[in-house]
Amino acid sequence: MINIVLFGPPGSGKGTQAQNLIEKFNLKQISTGDLFRYNMKNDTDLGKLAKSYIDKGELVPDQVTTDMLVDEVKKPTDAAGFIFDGYPRTANQTAELERIVKEVLNSEISVCLSLVVDDEILVERLLKRGETSGRTDDSNEEIIRNRIKEYYTKTAEVAELYKQQGKYVEINGVGEIDEISQKLFAEVEKIK
Ligand code: ADP
Repeated sequence: MINIVLFGPPGSGKGTQAQNLIEKFNLKQISTGDLFRYNMKNDTDLGKLAKSYIDKGELVPDQVTTDMLVDEVKKPTDAAGFIFDGYPRTANQTAELERIVKEVLNSEISVCLSLVVDDEILVERLLKRGETSGRTDDSNEEIIRNRIKEYYTKTAEVAELYKQQGKYVEINGVGEIDEISQKLFAEVEKIK
């Protein structure tokens, strides 16, 4: 199995690149952000809870996020592996993911691919996305900056953990979409 953690700050292009990786390598994407948005749209209890954090640009608590992720990983699939997009975002989630992948899939994380983009470009991209996405968390600069702050205070440590395991690869996330995809593909070829 190929199990990829696609990593990077909000607005770094994880969703776009995940799409290209899925097609190229027959992977299944699990995006915790998309799962929360689905629940918010359907006004489930989980959606209501998640909304109270997401609308402030904060992370949703680990336990509910992890429970939601486990349910997805357990669903049968004929994919060749998984792309985890938006999870893990904390040290605790990193340990949980390792455990889940081992217990449910009898496998391990192959690589953490990290998209690197300058903060000011992120803010610009997210404000632009907010004009059309309808995402409440993209709608104002203060919330966007808080998400980037959450990324540096809580999420950046995830990179350290994958670095220690020798599984961390950085890719410049600024440039043509296809060019960035090619760089990601080359990294996946190395671990196939
Ligand atoms: P982005 O990467 O653009 O910030 P996502 O769609 O990945 O957007 O996530 C949107 C929001 O959902 C996050 O700001 C956070 O509140 C919540 N969220 C997503 N994934 C997680 C996670 N693994 N742990 C906690 N909260 C999460």
